[in-house]
Amino acid sequence: MSAARVCHFKLVLLGDTAVGKSCLVVRFVRDEFFEFQEPTIGAAFLTQSVATGAATVKFEIWDTAGQERYRSLAPMYYRGAAAAIVVYDITNKDSFNGAKSWVKELQRRGDPNAVIALAGNKADLQSKRKIDYQEAQQYAEENGIMHIETSAKNDTNVKSLFHEIGTYGLSIK
Ligand code: GDP
Repeated sequence: MSAARVCHFKLVLLGDTAVGKSCLVVRFVRDEFFEFQEPTIGAAFLTQSVATGAATVKFEIWDTAGQERYRSLAPMYYRGAAAAIVVYDITNKDSFNGAKSWVKELQRRGDPNAVIALAGNKADLQSKRKIDYQEAQQYAEENGIMHIETSAKNDTNVKSLFHEIGTYGLSIK
């Protein structure tokens, strides 16, 4: 019997501060959630594997700090990345604008074959929603990227997000 194929995927998380990037990673890797997640300084590195039909995808995840002063470091993390998750907070319009600027930068300067996924996080806060699902979906379609709404808090769509990136990434490799 041959060993299962393992594909390594460098993945970077980008987006404004406090949209929930670290919480998404901690939910995915450790299945935990903290209301008072420690802020990321510079960037944090974690790994997690996902079994897809075709292979096991081992994600090498770079969780970047959202603060403006670290913005110039971002190319170090997205360069050579097979995938990027650009996160916004569905209750924060500015964070959606921030996400759009990250998508633009990735499309200009990142790997042209990288999978880009736009994640509208904090989907549990429906009553505070400022960004319609449809608006973000349309933006994603126009820009040829994936879009999904997640809640790190309620564990909604977090595994699906990574699974879909892995499956799609393998299909275009
Ligand atoms: P980052 O700066 O983008 O890495 O954001 P963090 O992961 O540090 O999260 C910022 C704040 O948002 C923390 O207080 C989290 O508890 C909260 N948070 C993160 N994800 C969610 C979510 O899905 N729902 C809600 N309601 N709060 C969240």
